[in-house]
Amino acid sequence: MNCNKKEKYFSKHLADEYCAAYNNDILVNQAESLCSYWCNRHRSWHIGHMNSSYSTGTRADRNLTGLMDQIAQEQIQNTDEENSLD
Ligand SMILES: [Zn+2]
Repeated sequence: MNCNKKEKYFSKHLADEYCAAYNNDILVNQAESLCSYWCNRHRSWHIGHMNSSYSTGTRADRNLTGLMDQIAQEQIQNTDEENSLD
């Protein structure tokens, strides 16, 4: 997700305050409500819509975590196989 042009907030509180102000506007569609999220690349908080782009980011994170778990398990299995050869 390209977030180079996104506003950077150095505290979650500030980002959340902005979101709350935006979301409380009665003209804002509920589907377009904003939420804050942490960006590792910029080491700061961004604000984004709570729809597709946000959930895609979370799904990618989950996949990465799953992959790490898988690699760790494979390493354990390989070690077991080496031991059983003795
Ligand atoms: Zn960013």
